[in-house]
Amino acid sequence: MHLTHREAPVESIRARAYTIPTDRPEADGTYAWQFTTLVVAEVTAAGKTGIGYTYNDAFTAQFIEATLASAIVGEDAWNVDALWLRMQQRVRNIGRSGIAATAISALDCALWDVKARLLDMPLARLLGAARSHVPLYGSGGFTTYTDDEVRDQLDRWVHEDGCRWVKIKIGTEPVRDPHRVEVARDAIGAQAGLFVDANGALDRKQALFYAQEFAQYGVEWFEEPVSSDDVAGLALLRNALPAGMELAAGEYGYTLDDFRVLLANEAIDVLQADVTRCGGITGFLRVAALCDAFHVPLSAHCAPALHLHVACAAPRLRHQEWFHDHVRIESMLFEGAPRARNGAIAPDWSRPGCGLDFKHADGHRYAV
Ligand SMILES: [Mg+2]
Repeated sequence: MHLTHREAPVESIRARAYTIPTDRPEADGTYAWQFTTLVVAEVTAAGKTGIGYTYNDAFTAQFIEATLASAIVGEDAWNVDALWLRMQQRVRNIGRSGIAATAISALDCALWDVKARLLDMPLARLLGAARSHVPLYGSGGFTTYTDDEVRDQLDRWVHEDGCRWVKIKIGTEPVRDPHRVEVARDAIGAQAGLFVDANGALDRKQALFYAQEFAQYGVEWFEEPVSSDDVAGLALLRNALPAGMELAAGEYGYTLDDFRVLLANEAIDVLQADVTRCGGITGFLRVAALCDAFHVPLSAHCAPALHLHVACAAPRLRHQEWFHDHVRIESMLFEGAPRARNGAIAPDWSRPGCGLDFKHADGHRYAV
């Protein structure tokens, strides 16, 4: 039996940003965009390089190299929890949320990737898998799309990728939304689940009114009907939504307390968490344990390729968001990006770590 006694000091840290234009203009209820910026972090220890990433503005890469790197270079890469804590302490006076949380998330994912690579093991095996594959819901249906574009996208997810659920954005022009929801229902048929996401665009009374409108089309998930800053509003709506319609939120959770507040106030039916924001694999595992303690299901937000292994290990995980932008970027720029099969993704057990390798040559043209 071989025990790994030897330390693996973090030798170097590198971060780069890549801005990738969307394939069409995109918008949700509170934001519009024509490009997405991917920030890739690489951590090298004992000759192995692990990767992690986040979706945030380009200066996050500078923040990683200028502020966080010095907190962990030279430290033992095996002790991911200790390094996670050192990074949290480093940003105490800067603020732990927002940019700092996304930068820490990218590095934490890279540290877990290094650890699994040092052991030559898939990350899901190292974490302890609770399942062999992760169910997907197709996510897009931007408010900039024509009815035909929505129909085509949703039809592909359900009838080609086998997704059991799909999600569209609402709230840019609320008065148009009942029609858009009807188009979506028509595209996917009666069997598939239909979700809507307002990204916090509505007020409480509006949200209640539109929830009742959407109920006639069998909408079963209403995400961020009001801003997630309005925890009392979420809780009130959760109890007032029509039967069979769940309330989901949590994508802007950065610290464990952000999630605890949503759970302790009974503000949600399903908690969402994003490994690129909530403190990486370490943070996501803690959120998963909270969900278990509160008996609430967990849904993984965006970045499906990076969530895959930890999503396999999260006990109450219900599904993973198969977000149009990120699926496109991950398949373009990462070797080993998962493909949807029968409405799910699964780790490639022959690849170590999170199973991803960044295609530097392909990324070069998008480098900031
Ligand atoms: Mg959302």
